[in-house]
Amino acid sequence: MITMSGVGKWFGAFQALHNIDMTVGKGEKIVLCGPSGSGKSTLIRCINHLESYQQGEIHVGGILLGHASKTIDAVRREVGMVFQQFNLFPHLSVLQNCMLAPMRSLGLSKAEAEECARLLLDRVKISEQAEKYPAQLSGGQQQRVAIARALCMRPKVMLFDEPTSALDPEMVKEVLDTMIALAEEGMTMICVTHEMGFARQVADRVVFMASGAIVEEAPPAEFFSNPRHERTRKFLGEIL
Ligand code: ADP
Ligand code: MG
Repeated sequence: MITMSGVGKWFGAFQALHNIDMTVGKGEKIVLCGPSGSGKSTLIRCINHLESYQQGEIHVGGILLGHASKTIDAVRREVGMVFQQFNLFPHLSVLQNCMLAPMRSLGLSKAEAEECARLLLDRVKISEQAEKYPAQLSGGQQQRVAIARALCMRPKVMLFDEPTSALDPEMVKEVLDTMIALAEEGMTMICVTHEMGFARQVADRVVFMASGAIVEEAPPAEFFSNPRHERTRKFLGEIL
């Protein structure tokens, strides 16, 4: 579903990603972790071209993510993204948030978009809030709306960038439960998160980054019990 080979990314003179090789198969769940500033957000933002890259190649669903807007649009249609800060449209209701992109980008009629939106809002257990505005919802509810909104575009891959980091502790579980349900349905997922319980339960592989490079990757049982690199051990010592 996704292959990154030899990907390098610079912000001006600063190299943020070094020679990234990563393959994610259909239905695989990857948890990406590492210290702050290690390049996790930059890596996943490259996958839907929210950031450009200067070296190597990224393929998503067989499409080479080049720099032409046509291929970028084609890839973005396949990839849903959920951010730490929800990023809902504040002036639109929950329902409208979920209907906008399918109508504009997929060409769904209003009725089709509404049916699909209600179905997905139900799936994230928030259908009774459909007419409300984002500011009237809790953080956990807003994040579940953001997940539903992404799913309305029928993505083949979902990217999550620290989706629970901005939430009060009591709301973390409802968002993780939504992500677990999505994983169980077979969605291909890359999740940047420090929720190691989630990683143990859901991840096929945990990928650990430091200083813009992948340091190691392993299935969670192996990653947590037998990290191979000193950097990984230090990181785990700090967060567990
Ligand atoms: P993480 O998500 O792991 O905390 P980021 O991918 O956000 O890390 O950042 C990786 C590195 O790239 C950091 O050193 C950060 O300061 C730098 N960086 C990120 N975005 C930009 C930007 N737009 N311009 C310049 N440097 C950036
Ligand atoms: Mg980040």
